[in-house]
Amino acid sequence: MTRTADVQRIIDLDPFRLPLGTLFPLADMAALEPFRDSLDGDHFDYEAGMVQLAVQSHLVRIGSTTILVDACVGEDKERPRRPDWHQRRGSGFLRRLASAGCAPEDIDIVVCTHLHADHVGWNTRLDHGRWVPTFPKARYLMGRTELAHWADLAGRPSEHPVNHGSYADSVLPVLEAGQAVAVTDGHDVAAGASIVPLPGHTPGHLGLRIGLVGQPTLLFTGDAMHSPAQVFNPDWSSAFCADPAEAAVTRRRFLAEAAETDTVLVPAHLRGDAMRIRRRQSGFRPVYCSCDGR
Ligand SMILES: [Zn+2]
Repeated sequence: MTRTADVQRIIDLDPFRLPLGTLFPLADMAALEPFRDSLDGDHFDYEAGMVQLAVQSHLVRIGSTTILVDACVGEDKERPRRPDWHQRRGSGFLRRLASAGCAPEDIDIVVCTHLHADHVGWNTRLDHGRWVPTFPKARYLMGRTELAHWADLAGRPSEHPVNHGSYADSVLPVLEAGQAVAVTDGHDVAAGASIVPLPGHTPGHLGLRIGLVGQPTLLFTGDAMHSPAQVFNPDWSSAFCADPAEAAVTRRRFLAEAAETDTVLVPAHLRGDAMRIRRRQSGFRPVYCSCDGR
């Protein structure tokens, strides 16, 4: 029997809109004009000049293993500097997870591509005033370099809580519960699924590659790419990238690999399922598809 990876998007917040220049400091509207057919609507609002993203998790089932890739913004978190993330209630995230046939205790593995506040929120939930892991049986995979980076910053005095306070309320409780596993490149997540390095957006940013016999290879790219606008403009790193130059090198590398190997890319914030990459003159273009490559 062939093994397949079944992938479903679990929305936490959609759309998540950001002005083009706020998200991509190097961007300009004129550079996007030729690509209306590919971007207008789902991915970019040309009238308002807004990039359109989704904040979502990807629920991945391979055989009997259930994986959640990234954990969004979450609820009840104190995020006073982000009004749309602050003290959220009624997001419907766990209800949508249930609609996908998955209870929190069914999650075996949570893959944290990185530890930004919009990727770790559902790592924990509030239980009688305490933050506890939302997924009680899961191992939470976090990059070793990434963990060390945020632990170091969280230990220093700062004017604002580090990373909106998300290390304290969404990472530390998982470590204290003994459910975190610090991983390095090549870590085997499940049969056919492994951790790959995608540094730049954060120091220890990682991706999840799934290669199953007879299936297209899937690469969950986290925030190494926010928008298909970056397929056309790979040098546009985000304002939230720790090392924009390194992020651009990483992006060009996996775009070239994806074009050569027909890999299906699944960016964390893509408003859609996935995309394949094709060569275009000296650059690339996306071809939207489902996660099984169709
Ligand atoms: Zn993000």
